[in-house]
Amino acid sequence: MTKTKITHTCQACGAHYPKWAGQCLGCGAWNSLVEEITQIANHPRHQGFSGTTPAITPMQHVTLEAEEARLFSGLKELDRVLGGGLVTGSAVLIGGDPGIGKSTLLLQTLAHLSQHIKVLYVTGEESLQQVTLRARRLGLPENNLLLLTDTNVERIIKCMQKEKPAVIVVDSIQTMHTDLLQSAPGAVGQVRESAAQLVAFAKQTNTALFLVGHVTKEGTLAGPRVLEHMVDCVLYFEGEQDSRYRVIRAVKNRFGAVNELGIFAMTDKGLREVNNPSAIFLSRYESPVAGSVIMATREGSRPLLVEVQALVDQSHMGNPRRVCVGLDTQRLAMLLAVLHRHSGITTYDQDVFVNAVGGVRVTETGADLALLLAVLSSLRNRPIPQDTLIFGEVGLAGEIRPVQGGQERLREAAKHGFKQAIIPHANAPKEKIGEMQIFTVQSLAQAVDYFKSI
Ligand SMILES: [Zn+2]
Repeated sequence: MTKTKITHTCQACGAHYPKWAGQCLGCGAWNSLVEEITQIANHPRHQGFSGTTPAITPMQHVTLEAEEARLFSGLKELDRVLGGGLVTGSAVLIGGDPGIGKSTLLLQTLAHLSQHIKVLYVTGEESLQQVTLRARRLGLPENNLLLLTDTNVERIIKCMQKEKPAVIVVDSIQTMHTDLLQSAPGAVGQVRESAAQLVAFAKQTNTALFLVGHVTKEGTLAGPRVLEHMVDCVLYFEGEQDSRYRVIRAVKNRFGAVNELGIFAMTDKGLREVNNPSAIFLSRYESPVAGSVIMATREGSRPLLVEVQALVDQSHMGNPRRVCVGLDTQRLAMLLAVLHRHSGITTYDQDVFVNAVGGVRVTETGADLALLLAVLSSLRNRPIPQDTLIFGEVGLAGEIRPVQGGQERLREAAKHGFKQAIIPHANAPKEKIGEMQIFTVQSLAQAVDYFKSI
């Protein structure tokens, strides 16, 4: 026997209250109470020992199931971030700014899947006419695309029980609400409870579920972040809305690599996969430009060539500015300190701006050396040849540390016609890679010496 009861739980300290209040009495946090459903079961804990013992299994007796069945979305880049296709019965959360292309991507995916299996698109934001208009504009097949406009989770689940689709899209989770709670749609409690019911139903019926979630600029409240632990896979749209390209990153994936990137071009026919993603992050100049460096980063399982630009300019402020777009500002400050301490190059009277071209976000430390050499190149107004690849992590002692997958990065660069590379000593390849001349460095001082000789 279980009994459901509504309580208000503080998101900061976990205290429960029967009624909502503006401030938590336990920890003093404001606006932290969220409506939740609690199940009060006749738990054996309250009745003494239940009498059953859980079974222990020796590892050699564990049988492995065959690979999960995968469905293909028709977009290779989406299948890539999903870890090689959509797993049946999995729950995927797709987050991103409003208008960045989440609905377009999923409508395209469903239209493709609808040719083989039963799919359902649930929209709580747009009318059926709006969805149909979009599908027509994108030139998608319409014959098998089932649509439902509703925002009530219980009714949606009833409909799913009757129709039994193999894949369902819920657009968006912020518009959904459940009868169990009284708060308005979009409130954290509603978003979480609605998602929990949909995910549970999808798991029971082996339905693949896509949840669309809007990310609010400021952060977590009512955002999809509260859902991340409920789903198998979390994908986020990155990059600027005015860019022609869209980058999707797998932030969590139970069935594939984390940080895997899918790269798409936004066209009038919807999102198209980009076959040679390295090419779009490189700008080709007529002649080399000071402050521009090409690095090889490895996000997920694929190496990617990215151009890093730096602009160093005399500062007129007491506190010179350090601004990063697509890179980590804290790390830049640390690297500038290393540059000063171990190479005697000062930037305390300079503003430093750094940008990763193409709206891609570089999260790994392998960008360190490229970033510092871009800064140096701008500071000295001396260009680094365009066919030079640079990567490597810089330590606080001024040492250059190796990165993962050095060979793959070099091969990717050789494929794009790069002639030379400055890389960590420990990443030196055993055999020649293409026509590339490779300079290995062990310390920042060596790298700076090499820069001076260019
Ligand atoms: Zn509290």
